[in-house]
Amino acid sequence: MPQFPLPPGSTIGVLGGGQLGRMLAEAASRLGFDVAVLEREADSPAGRVCARLIVAAYDDGEGLRALAEAADVVTFEFENVPAASVAQLAQFGAEVAPGARALAVAQDRFDEKTFLNANGCPTVAFAAASTAAEAIDAVARIGVPALMKTRREGYDGKGQSWVKDVADAGRIFEALGGARVIVEAAAPFVRELSVIAARGRDGEVAVYPLGENQHENGVLRRTSAPADISPPTAAEAERIAARILDGLDYVGVIGVELFEMADGSLLVNEIAPRVHNTGHWTQDGCQVDQFEQHIRAVAGWPLGPTDAIARIEMLNLLGDEAGAWRSLAAEPATRVHLYGKRAAKPGRKMGHVNRVRPL
Ligand code: AMP
Repeated sequence: MPQFPLPPGSTIGVLGGGQLGRMLAEAASRLGFDVAVLEREADSPAGRVCARLIVAAYDDGEGLRALAEAADVVTFEFENVPAASVAQLAQFGAEVAPGARALAVAQDRFDEKTFLNANGCPTVAFAAASTAAEAIDAVARIGVPALMKTRREGYDGKGQSWVKDVADAGRIFEALGGARVIVEAAAPFVRELSVIAARGRDGEVAVYPLGENQHENGVLRRTSAPADISPPTAAEAERIAARILDGLDYVGVIGVELFEMADGSLLVNEIAPRVHNTGHWTQDGCQVDQFEQHIRAVAGWPLGPTDAIARIEMLNLLGDEAGAWRSLAAEPATRVHLYGKRAAKPGRKMGHVNRVRPL
């Protein structure tokens, strides 16, 4: 068991080598930490900026052992870490943050909404189904239109389908792969918001101002922050974030996606137990961004301030859009963040820009 706070010179382990791991590694290095990354690809965004790279599958016992031995604390940059890997890391003596429970809750949409409701966080009405017959029954109870989602492994709008007619429910269940699903009522939201928050090892909670998000084809396109929000709605978002963090005995940064209704009330769509794309605005809009905040939290350091110091429009650069780096870099109020990915496949997140305006 390491002694917290971890002193500079300690090693932070990160499972996953994508852009979130890269930005975590950059933040950690600013605080004097080394980062060891476990990633299955030999060439990855995080793998090229970390002090030590372990190339192994996420469930490879030897790789996990090497990570546990190298790191004083292990964290991750994606939520679909196999539960068995987390258990193995713990077995090899690693301190893992956020913990196994946060991952388990976030990995299953039904367990997630059940947890949220039990902790005073409102969601849409929902029902679970494991067979086509149950799916038909669930849609009949929830009403149409309903959204059918696989309970596990969906992201960026994948693994989900609208059901407009109860008669289609069985066919859609099969088209989603015949795996267990959750059927959700349609949320008549006016805006999609998100709140990024952190909880330290001592239980301290710090919440960033809300972001307003726009998606295209199920993928985040832009976040504007701080969102123009009524004080009661902002207070409700803070309450929700704190309930989730305390309910999971969480350590680290979390992203909470919210639906805002016409009356200003909020429903939680989902939680991401990690730094989040809708929190990238904090890199240029806050003194301590979400990446440093996560490193501070898992290392047992005091959390940093979360107030906005600028107004940011964050725009994701998808596919070949990152090829415009030269003109983007020439815009005086635009901060360019590129992930160093080799291949610009269509729709792939290659980078983002933060356009900065005074508050
Ligand atoms: P998710 O994969 O759960 O983040 O959903 C992807 C997107 O689908 C969300 O950002 C929303 O735009 C939309 N969506 C998800 N769930 C619902 C719902 N219950 N009602 C309406 N829209 C939804």
